[in-house]
Amino acid sequence: MRNPMIICDFDGTITESDNIIAIMNKFAPAGWKAIKDQIFLKEVSIQDGVGKMFSLLSSDLKENIIDYLNQNSRFREGFTEFLTFVKKNQIPFYVVSGGIDFFVYKLLEDHLDPSEIYCNQAEFSGGNIQIQWPYSCDQQCSNQGCGCCKPSVIRRMNTEDYEVIVIGDSITDLEAAKCADYIFARDFLAEQCDKLALPYSRFETFFDCKSELEKSLGVKK
Ligand SMILES: [Mg+2]
Ligand SMILES: [Zn+2]
Repeated sequence: MRNPMIICDFDGTITESDNIIAIMNKFAPAGWKAIKDQIFLKEVSIQDGVGKMFSLLSSDLKENIIDYLNQNSRFREGFTEFLTFVKKNQIPFYVVSGGIDFFVYKLLEDHLDPSEIYCNQAEFSGGNIQIQWPYSCDQQCSNQGCGCCKPSVIRRMNTEDYEVIVIGDSITDLEAAKCADYIFARDFLAEQCDKLALPYSRFETFFDCKSELEKSLGVKK
C-alpha cells in the first residue's frame, strides 16, 4: 500500500464520550436539550444547533469548563500508545473534530501540535460563548451546515500520495469515511460501513487499530 495518513475524530473516538454533551449537561440551562433534539431530527444544522447551544453559556465559564473536562473526560484505551506508534512510523495523523478549540487543544496539548488539529473555534469576548467555523462546508458538500465539515477538510488536504484512513464513530464521520481508502469504525459508523459495504475494521480500543494497521495493512513495527 501507499503510505497511510490518518484522519481521526475526537469526541466518542479519542475520548470515550461526547464532550459537547458533557459540557451542556453540566453547565447549560435545560433548554439545550430541545436544541440537541432538533439537531438529531435534522430540523437545524449541526452548525446552527451547536452555535445556539454554546450561546446559552456565559463566556466566564471558560476555565470552569476546561477544568471540568480535564477531570472528567477520558481517552479511549490505547490512544497514547497508538500515537507513539504512528509517530514512530512517520504516519501523518490529524484530528478533524466537530469539537471546539478551547477544549480540544487543551485535552490534546501533551500529545499533538495545534497544526495537527482541525476543529471549530470559540470566541469569549462577548457575554456569551460564540462559535466560529473556520472549516465550514465547501461547495461539494451535499449536507451543508456541518460546522467542521470533515469531507471538505479532507479535500483541502494533500492526500494524493497517501492511503487515507478515517477513524470515527458517528454520523459526522460518515461522509469523511466515504472519502477514505480504509476506515476504523465503531458504533453508528460501523453499522453504516456494513450497510454501505465500505472497507473497514471495527475497533473498540486503539490497540485494535494498532494491530490492524500492523497486520492487515502491512505497516512495519
Ligand atoms: Mg465522534
Ligand atoms: Zn459539510
